[in-house]
Amino acid sequence: MRSKRLTSTQRRYLNGQIGKNLKGELARRVYERMMQLARNRNVGLIEEKLIPDAALMHYRGRYYIIINPNQPIRLKVFSMGHELGHYVLKHLDKEEAVRLGPACLIRLEMNASRFAGKLARLLGRKLSREVSYRSRGRE
Ligand SMILES: [Zn+2]
Repeated sequence: MRSKRLTSTQRRYLNGQIGKNLKGELARRVYERMMQLARNRNVGLIEEKLIPDAALMHYRGRYYIIINPNQPIRLKVFSMGHELGHYVLKHLDKEEAVRLGPACLIRLEMNASRFAGKLARLLGRKLSREVSYRSRGRE
């Protein structure tokens, strides 16, 4: 199924967070590497078209990232990075955050997004040489 197009607000936001250069083949590779990072930490990955973007869930002793597969690839990179951020930064106790109030919840969300941006840019730099080398090889 074809991905939906990004709205201009989403595009501006993603350009600010993950940069303009992360797209196409490079974005797909960054996404794959993020999925690998999740699997290496025994985080289960579930694709579900009924959720808006993505979520981190704890179920029977295991963590899962549930992600809508029908998002544009740049949004998938960001969503996956964001949920990985919640996991890595140990934002796992949502009830505690709710108890501490909205400012705390917003800070958790912003930190997860910042993590997503940093991880995407880092992986983008790491993988871009590989991708440009390969695409040159195909010509
Ligand atoms: Zn979040």
